[in-house]
Amino acid sequence: MLTTPAFTSSDTPSDMSSDTSSERSSGRSSASSDRTASLIAREDAFGAHNYHPLDLVIAEASGSWVTDVDGRRYLDCLSAYSAVNQGHAHPRLLAAMARQASRVTLTSRAFRNEQLGAFCEALATRCGMDMVLPMNTGAEAVETAIKAARRWGYRVKGIPQDRAEIIAFANNFHGRTTTLVGFSSEAAYRADFGPFAPGFTVVPFGDLDAVRRAITGHACAVLVEPIQCEAGVLLPPEGFLRELSALCREQNVLLVADEIQTGLGRTGAWFACDHEDVKPDLYVLGKALSGGCYPVSAVVGRREVLGLFEPGSHGSTFGGNPLACAVALEALAVLEDEQLIARAAQSGAWLGAQLAQLTHPSIVAVRGRGLIWAIELREPARPWAEALQRRGVLCKETHGTVLRLSPPLGTSREDLAFLVKQLQHVFEQHQAE
Ligand SMILES: *Cc1c(COP(=O)(O)O)cnc(C)c1O
Repeated sequence: MLTTPAFTSSDTPSDMSSDTSSERSSGRSSASSDRTASLIAREDAFGAHNYHPLDLVIAEASGSWVTDVDGRRYLDCLSAYSAVNQGHAHPRLLAAMARQASRVTLTSRAFRNEQLGAFCEALATRCGMDMVLPMNTGAEAVETAIKAARRWGYRVKGIPQDRAEIIAFANNFHGRTTTLVGFSSEAAYRADFGPFAPGFTVVPFGDLDAVRRAITGHACAVLVEPIQCEAGVLLPPEGFLRELSALCREQNVLLVADEIQTGLGRTGAWFACDHEDVKPDLYVLGKALSGGCYPVSAVVGRREVLGLFEPGSHGSTFGGNPLACAVALEALAVLEDEQLIARAAQSGAWLGAQLAQLTHPSIVAVRGRGLIWAIELREPARPWAEALQRRGVLCKETHGTVLRLSPPLGTSREDLAFLVKQLQHVFEQHQAE
């Protein structure tokens, strides 16, 4: 058993060694300790302000719970946007990471490494696909899928050079590169970042006729999130994905499923596409592919498409590195061995039934699937997220008025009951006012 300081200190808050226990317990009662305030001030002074985080500073985490620098514990109901589906500090992932880190972390793809083949085989097999192209972040994987689809459009479908079109959906979220925000419908994602790349047509989400009208002879792909999580957990009409898949096949257009957030168990199936028995031409995966330990993403697809990349056509210094591959292999095995997908389906059904019983004049809708749920409000959701934070539950508003709930997939029934209790309390308290 290898031990490294970073991975053996999970029970000792190493970063808090200078705090006395009395300071820590006094921090529990005060709204925000000096330590929290000074860490926030330092981050705000020297870090760019491209996020608006809740005002707590996390020091450590285990399973479904995180602890802040003042020793307060919170149930994590965001899971780093579904990157931590396997739970924080999973012992198998930490062990795989330490083992591989002590052997070799990065070779670049100039040389081969021991882990890449095993990772590609495991992921391709799990997806029922032929090939894997590993990258690091989600946005890079979506960019890779766009390159793959365009190349297929020119070399296989015969679209004239530089005319390929990709159809995407309003309210999409595919990442933050200039190409991707260029076809976002969210003003905040785009403002003053143009000029943007041409070649994208945006149609309303769930509108099959609009897709049909948008498909021209130059269309190479439809890029879809099976559930639009960032937009507020928007589910398309029942049957939409199935019909979209049939339309793509009929029109000779690739179906590219961005399952970066919905994939790997989050919706109670391996992939959200599975709920409608849809098999896309390309899956785009990220986030939980490493259980939150490391940035690992991939495009997984048929040889007819991914086989079109030849040496020199695409790459990434860190993509497919041995540390990433070893962690991702273990992360996939954990999902399987701990039956986290079935557990997400079961506990998600229970959670959804509980959420449906919440009553408050501000609640417009409750929707979700598996273990990703949204409570849509008539008003900004931020104050509600802050009220939940004060009661030991971490979640984040999305799209202004939506509270998204996506705890780690193995979260116990007891912990989910704790979440429901805090929601009930917060909504009841504010009803009385
Ligand atoms: C998070 C996310 C991305 C972007 O992933 P990054 O790792 O942040 O680049 C893309 N698509 C979807 C659906 C996502 O949820």
